Amino acid sequence: MIERIAACSCGQLSATVTEAPIRVSICHCTDCQRRTGGVFATQARFRKDAVRITGSSTEYIRVDDEGRKKATFHFCPHCSAILYWRLEAEPEMVLIPVGAFADPGFPTPTISVWEQDKHAWVSLPANIKHFS
Ligand SMILES: [Zn+2]
Ligand SMILES: [Zn+2]
Repeated sequence: MIERIAACSCGQLSATVTEAPIRVSICHCTDCQRRTGGVFATQARFRKDAVRITGSSTEYIRVDDEGRKKATFHFCPHCSAILYWRLEAEPEMVLIPVGAFADPGFPTPTISVWEQDKHAWVSLPANIKHFS
C-alpha cells in the first residue's frame, strides 16, 4: 500500500492518502496563480475514500467567470496553507497540492492545463499532455 502524508505549514491540518494519485496536473490559470502566489499550481487528484483528513480547516469557495465549476478550498486557519479542495463537478475526488507532500520523489505531472495563461519562461516535462 502506498501511504503519503500531506500537511500544512504548521502541521495542524494533514491528509493521509492510501493510494497513488489518479492524476497529477499543472494548472497555469490566473486563479491558481493568485491562489498559490506561484506562477502555476501542481495538484494531485485522489479518490475521496483514499484520503483521511486530520485537523481543522476553513473553507473558501471559488466560482469561475460564468459562475460555474465551484471549487471548495480548505485551508489551515492558523498558517493559511491550502491543504485540499473539492470540485463540485467531481464529488468523488479530493485534490491536494503536490507541494503539501514535501516529497521531491512525488509522481511527475502528466497533464498541463490553462496553457494560455502560462508564463513564457516555464518549461514542462517532455511527455506532458497539453491543454489550453
Ligand atoms: Zn497550518
Ligand atoms: Zn487553475
